[in-house]
Order: sequence, then structure tokens, then C-alpha cells
Amino acid sequence: LHNEIVDIKGNIRVFCRVRPLMSSESGGDEDGEAIRFPLGDESIAVRCGVAMMDMKQFTFDRTFKPEEDQPAVFSECSSLITSVLDGYNVTIFAYGQTGSGKTHTMSGSASNPGVNLRALGKLFQIAQKRSGDYDTSISASILEIYNEGVYDLLNSSGHDKSSAMEVRHASGEGTQVLGLTISEVTNVAEVDKLVALGNSNRSTYATNMNEHSSRSHSMLSVYVTSTNRQTGEVSKGKLHLVDLAGSERLSRTGADGDRLKEAQAINKSLSSLGDVISALAVRSQHIPYRNSKLTQVLQDSLGGSAKVLMFVNCSPTIQSSSETLCSLNFAARVRGV
Ligand code: ADP
Ligand code: MG
Repeated sequence: LHNEIVDIKGNIRVFCRVRPLMSSESGGDEDGEAIRFPLGDESIAVRCGVAMMDMKQFTFDRTFKPEEDQPAVFSECSSLITSVLDGYNVTIFAYGQTGSGKTHTMSGSASNPGVNLRALGKLFQIAQKRSGDYDTSISASILEIYNEGVYDLLNSSGHDKSSAMEVRHASGEGTQVLGLTISEVTNVAEVDKLVALGNSNRSTYATNMNEHSSRSHSMLSVYVTSTNRQTGEVSKGKLHLVDLAGSERLSRTGADGDRLKEAQAINKSLSSLGDVISALAVRSQHIPYRNSKLTQVLQDSLGGSAKVLMFVNCSPTIQSSSETLCSLNFAARVRGV
């Protein structure tokens, strides 16, 4: 029954998550709130005009309110982790404007980790539980996509065009990033170390880490190989955890050459991602994977039997409501309703 339900809904799910207001922020104006939660845990309504009545409502597979914490969010993702061990490719990504909570959702902090480390913890835990029947090996890579270049964050070779990597897709073999460092890991602490190395490599070429991370996509990928001890049968699954670049539209003022180029690259990859997922949803003949590096890298982990979970992260402030509306429109289109 579970699989039947998944089939009917398709392999893409969309979760909306609204972060809390900070003390310095405002969640409304004299005309009303920026965001409301109609009854239930699926819907959200966002202001789309000046009057209080101007609210547009959206429904997702789940909508997390500001007070819902990291464990609550992860508990709704954890069945996907089992799928990876069963040999499925799974992609979980966070979409939204800068400051909406993408990094909090995916990485979180040391004391309050997000989906990434919780997912790895669960992977190791299940692998351990199954170890009598299956021999499981787990490895990981971390890459970044910036200005349509793919860079290895576990390698300190930097960020110029010569260190950009090629992506190859061969049916049967899946998608490969040529030369990407893939390290075997046996526990969460080792993954944590890789993440720290990735962050430190990233910060060597970024003058401002926050700005840089909002203009590039970062991807922690986990490769799982399970061998059945009795039959020798091997299954391979992958989990991609993606913190996307900020989806905000470029303000017309102050866009110099570099900034414009970055914005165009981000726009191209995010719109390609939307195009690919919606083409998959309507079972189109042609899936436009080749339009961006992001969709090329994820080619074997978005369609077919792959399972996809998109977080659309939202800021609750009144100043953000037009960006929030754009994000929710994107998410609604991805969900295909
Ligand atoms: P983004 O990665 O989308 O730019 P961040 O994840 O950095 O956004 O979030 C912006 C700020 O809001 C950070 O200070 C972060 O700690 C905080 N924040 C985001 N989401 C939550 C949440 N659900 N609960 C508490 N704080 C959050
Ligand atoms: Mg971030």
C-alpha cells in the first residue's frame, strides 16, 4: 500500500518550512500579517497585495510552522533514508531566498543539526542494524556549483576554471563527476570532519563566506553500497543533500558585472531545476537535464525511480512577502498542481 500511495503522488514531495521571526523583524503591517496558516498542517497563505484580504493560499505535502524544530522536520524525511539503503537514489534540497532558513534546515548547527547529519546518523544506524544480513559501505563527497562550474570542496585546488570538473552521464552507470574526491566514512564524526574540510576549502577562496554561499549551490552526496551476505547481490543507492543558492531576484540597483553573471548563473540553474522536475512530473519525452550543471549533476537522482524532496524555505517577514510568493509559486509548479 505504501508504494501504491507513493506511485499516485509521484516521486516528488514538497515541504514548506517557515522560520521564526527574529526580534528585529516584523511579521506584518497595519493591514495584517505576511503569512498565515489555515487549518491543518499542509497549507500556508501569503500576502500578495496591500489589503489583508490579498492572501494567496498554497498546499504542500507538509507545511512546518516556525515553532516546529529540527527533529520534527527530520522525522518526516526519515523514510527516504531507508530507501537509500534499499538502493534508491534520493535527492533532498532546500530552495528559498537568502535568509529563509535553507542552511539551518540542511546543516543546522553543531548543537542543533539539520537534515544532513541526522540523515547520516540514521544511515549508519540502519546499516548497523542490518549488518548481520548486509555488508554496507558508505562514502561521501562534497561539491559546489558556482557560475556553472562544478568544484570539489574536498580538494583545496581552488576555484578557477582549470579546477572545474566535468560531468558524465552514461545509462547503466549513472552520473559521475570526473575526479571528484569520494571518501569512505564509517560514522557521523567522520562525515562532520569532511564537512569541516569542505567549509574550510570553501572559505579560502570566498572573501565573504555568507555572500559566497548564498550564490552557489553546495551538495553533500552519500554513496551507499549494500551487499547481501547470503546471495552476494549488490545494491547501490545515493543521497544528495543540496543547499541551493538564494532564489532572490537581483535588485536592479548595484548589479556590477560579476554580480550580474552570478545572478544569471543562479537563475539558469534554478529555473532548469524547476523545468526538469516539472517535465518529469508530466512524463514529458524530453527532460532538459543539459540546460544547467545542477541538473546534469543530479541527472540520475531526479527522475526514474529516484525520490525527491524539496524544502521551500520561507521568511515570515512582511518585507519578504513578494519573494516568499515567488518561492511558493516555484514550489507549487514543481509539485505539479
Ligand atoms: P539561508 O541559508 O536560507 O540563507 P539561514 O539558514 O542562514 O538562511 O537562516 C537565516 C537565519 O535564521 C540564521 O541565523 C538561522 O540560524 C536562523 N534560522 C533559520 N531557520 C530557523 C529556524 N527554523 N529556527 C530558528 N532559527 C532559524
Ligand atoms: Mg545559507
